[in-house]
Amino acid sequence: MPFFLIRNDITRMHTDAVVNAANKTLLGGGGVDGAIHRAAGPKLLAHCLTLGGCKTGEAKITPGFNMSCKYIIHTVGPIWKDGAHGEREALVSCYRSSLALALENGCESVAFPLISAGVYGYPVEEAIAVAEETIRTFLDDHDMTVYLVLFDTNAVSAGTERFREIRSYIDDAYSDAFAETEKRRSQRLRSETELDFIGSAPMANFAMPQMAESKPPKKQGFIKKIKEKKEDLSLAPSKPEPIRPEPMEMPTFCDSVDGAMSPADFSSLEDALSRLDESFTQMLLRKIDESGMTDAQCYKKANIDRKLFSKIRSDIYYKPSKSTAVAFGVALRMPLDELRSFIAKAGFALSHASKFDIIVEYYISRGVYDIFEINDTLFAFDQMLLGTQ
Ligand code: ADP
Repeated sequence: MPFFLIRNDITRMHTDAVVNAANKTLLGGGGVDGAIHRAAGPKLLAHCLTLGGCKTGEAKITPGFNMSCKYIIHTVGPIWKDGAHGEREALVSCYRSSLALALENGCESVAFPLISAGVYGYPVEEAIAVAEETIRTFLDDHDMTVYLVLFDTNAVSAGTERFREIRSYIDDAYSDAFAETEKRRSQRLRSETELDFIGSAPMANFAMPQMAESKPPKKQGFIKKIKEKKEDLSLAPSKPEPIRPEPMEMPTFCDSVDGAMSPADFSSLEDALSRLDESFTQMLLRKIDESGMTDAQCYKKANIDRKLFSKIRSDIYYKPSKSTAVAFGVALRMPLDELRSFIAKAGFALSHASKFDIIVEYYISRGVYDIFEINDTLFAFDQMLLGTQ
């Protein structure tokens, strides 16, 4: 079931339960513990006084009081010494006991801070790895949405060594996209110039290409054909500023889907409507059958929750978000071409002008279909994650 990394202050999470990285007294402290006590109000301390503390690796539950969660689950992480004093086992136990308490209390969503990774000194990257592994194992068998809230750590960020290769892949893809745009723009300018060169106006266009886009030159009633293409090109700015396209997160709508019929193939609108192409839902269900996976195996792999899957299943015209559509494509291990056709059914495409798209393409083209690995990277590059959000 869904697991997400998120950058936030945990006291702002609207989950059923919020986990507190407490100390053994359960009477409040610094860091996330202090923030939770401040947000929950003094009744939390009064309640905690009745609990008799908590052992390392264990967890206790209280109401959320003034916080927007129903429950606060207090767990005590290990203090890091050198990694040879049972720190890992104790940390795994914190996540397991907290999740077990959440389950017992009917929670459908839980937010964890990075337990022990602050004052208790657990190395951040290792703390993240333990958290991810333990939560994922739990989610294999349980329906719950779990968030790991990374507050002030840059451990999962684009600048780290771990993401070096994908950084350069994104740079290359951006440069290609930029070069392609430039090529098309200069071809367009050239053909416009050949056909409609008027007085000195095109000179201004070349000098200020961006203005040319928004304000076409006024026609002055005569056309002068340029014969010397070389001369024409020499007017262009020698090397335009390498403006990197901003990561755009937008559903890219397609004109047509591979293999779809064109409007000219239909005799009337009624005819067209009676011969609709296979929908996204239909293709999804067919692909699940063909893969031999059960529905549950598929939506879990896709980081999608059961409720959303039921909704999609029961509506053949369901219009998923891009992150949902791509998530199913990844879960079904679709090669890139197939993924493109699949998400086109929902009106989306992959482009080199979007970091999200480039990252997805990077992993799929390498045969990596681990949604959590892809999501770590999307998170590092501040992109929306795959799965139910
Ligand atoms: P511990 O004593 O278990 O190390 P800390 O509270 O010192 O607990 O830190 C645990 C993690 O919680 C650290 O990564 C810290 O950055 C993070 N943290 C601190 N305040 C918040 C907050 N308000 N929301 C989410 N995470 C927080």
